[in-house]
Amino acid sequence: MRFTVLTLFPGQITDFLKKSITGNAMQKGIISVEAKDIRENALNDYGKVDDTLYGGGTGMLMQCDPVYDTWKSVCDKDSKPYTVYVSPKGHVLNQKKVIELSKKEHLCIVCGHYEGIDSRVIDEICDEEISIGDYVLTGGELAACVIIDSVSRMLEGVLPNEEAYSNESHMGGTLEAPQYTKPEDWHDIHVPAVLLSGDLKKIEEHNRIMSYIETMNKRPDMFERLEITEEDWQKILALKKTLCYSS
Ligand code: SAM
Repeated sequence: MRFTVLTLFPGQITDFLKKSITGNAMQKGIISVEAKDIRENALNDYGKVDDTLYGGGTGMLMQCDPVYDTWKSVCDKDSKPYTVYVSPKGHVLNQKKVIELSKKEHLCIVCGHYEGIDSRVIDEICDEEISIGDYVLTGGELAACVIIDSVSRMLEGVLPNEEAYSNESHMGGTLEAPQYTKPEDWHDIHVPAVLLSGDLKKIEEHNRIMSYIETMNKRPDMFERLEITEEDWQKILALKKTLCYSS
């Protein structure tokens, strides 16, 4: 999958993504990431890309032409990339949207900085606006990295197999069951015995019910949206009663 990021700070994108799993995905050729410097299309020799706001207000706004010309330079002759403006005004990113974006061939992410970008060019080139949360960042580069990271791990060959992500939090409307590694006892807290039993069916069932309990405890808003059968309710209540991590 091809990612193109339009940004005033290309180094912030490449420095982050060249490491770890996204770096490996690039080396394997599963993803390509190009960070295009909007300033290369500046309006003068001093690299001007922004100006003051019409109607007044603090700060500088990125101008249409440098953004538009950079976007045009990444459009193919007869196709344009699916283009997203990362913005605190967008729909908040979730796993469903991540999976939807992972089906695109070429995703172009436009990053604002300072006060943001002139609305006219956003309306002209962007297919949608995506936010990574209800707060304001200084620039869109972190948000672009969040999108590329989360989308990449949905692509075949990036993680070892589908199981590596299919049971994870948010994939099926629940949070993942608590996980443990060695040692079996730590600070007098024991790993649940069923996980040491080697009985794969029992382990799967334990984790399925624990993922309900984890969701109930940590994200009651998500839990409310689940449709739990009477049988599973009984299992949840029974397991909740037995939960005792310390000896
Ligand atoms: N003036 C804008 C507003 O109030 O909506 C905020 C501009 S912000 C300081 C600068 C840039 O950071 C934005 O253009 C956007 O690209 C990015 N940004 C800020 N918060 C974001 C968020 N929650 N999600 C995604 N991008 C964000």
